Amino acid sequence: MSAPPRPATAHATPSAERAAAEFTRRFGRAPLGVWSAPGRVNLIGEHTDYNDGFALPFAIDRRTWAAVAPREDRRIRVASTFAGDKSVELPLGLLDPARLAGWSAYPLGVAWAFGRLAARGGVDVCFDSSVPVGAGLSSSAAIEASIAIALNELWGTNLDRSALARIGRLAENEAVGAPTGIMDQTAALQGTAGAAVLLDARTLHTRAVPLGFAAAGLEVLVIDTRTAHAHAGGGYGARRASCERAAQVLGVPALRDVALARLEAAEALLDDETFRRARHVLTENARVLAAVTLLDAHGDPARSGDALARDMRAIGALLDASHASLRDDFEVSTPELDLAAESARAAGALGARMTGGGFGGAVIALVPTARNAAIAEAVTRAFAEAGYPRPQLFTVTPSAGARRER
Ligand code: ADP
Ligand code: MG
Repeated sequence: MSAPPRPATAHATPSAERAAAEFTRRFGRAPLGVWSAPGRVNLIGEHTDYNDGFALPFAIDRRTWAAVAPREDRRIRVASTFAGDKSVELPLGLLDPARLAGWSAYPLGVAWAFGRLAARGGVDVCFDSSVPVGAGLSSSAAIEASIAIALNELWGTNLDRSALARIGRLAENEAVGAPTGIMDQTAALQGTAGAAVLLDARTLHTRAVPLGFAAAGLEVLVIDTRTAHAHAGGGYGARRASCERAAQVLGVPALRDVALARLEAAEALLDDETFRRARHVLTENARVLAAVTLLDAHGDPARSGDALARDMRAIGALLDASHASLRDDFEVSTPELDLAAESARAAGALGARMTGGGFGGAVIALVPTARNAAIAEAVTRAFAEAGYPRPQLFTVTPSAGARRER
């Protein structure tokens, strides 16, 4: 006999309401409010952020909700529908990034990263989420950003969104121990409906770039391969170290400062592997800027339908080139990710690429809405034939960034 279902709330699917109801069920009182932040896909610009380069992520219509209420004392307590019924509780004064562990390192790391501003009072927090965890859609930035905007309001700290993104990154780097860049937090905090966020990771300047996919009869299909990735593991850090080595040898602060035209000269100075890592970063930065040029032109009402179709095909080609570069030069793809991208393409996607840090996770494909179902079926079939676990497929739409819900 199977175990009886865990007594939960009346809300079957993750939502702001369910976060609030779970808060009440667990803590015996109502939350003051619910704040939320989205997951993201990165349209293009992978492993560029920590090289001071460019990325073009967008916030998706899957979110993490944080139901929050202040406490009388100076303690912080966090719970999540993702983590069973146990909560984690600590005095705010004892938050030590080196001693935080497990899932609670993300939200508690954010509270720690507020620094002395965190002396403003205790809180209870309960999370609910519809962002798949560990799929490369940045459930980590979603949880960080949701609590960051909640604390910013409760504590009256008045930090702007780019400061909150840095707080999220600090938490992930120091408390979680994942040496990630700032792209994920930027997308979660700065995303807007219908647009991607062009991030200049050096200046942290952002600009909304309208995507117009729906108007072009296109959508973005996510293929979650359900294979694990672990950024805290060695692969990500090793790539970062290669990039830093390349920049050092080339005598620049970051690979962002190497013009594409210098690529050939760089080859003589670097060992083969370091050169290929650098080549990925340089060409990927160029692909981001090319995609932005195409998307900006797309917004021009004088542009003909034919030109739009051509632009979208060109964006698809950039996605393909990005995937090939991540696979061959940066070597962060996996057989599952390659198959997802190839089978989507073969079935009619305009382009497809792995999204997120790699070593597993998800692929995005730019697909004609009319062919979405057929492409999804073809990908699922290809996975079955290869003996891989059944992938999870869903479309995502560019959505609003972090906000208060109620
Ligand atoms: P990704 O960001 O691609 O989803 P990460 O490995 O960076 O993958 O982050 C996933 C981790 O973040 C989870 O293993 C968990 O520790 C934490 N996390 C994310 N969302 C939640 C949530 N809703 N509740 C609790 N922990 C979460
Ligand atoms: Mg993450």
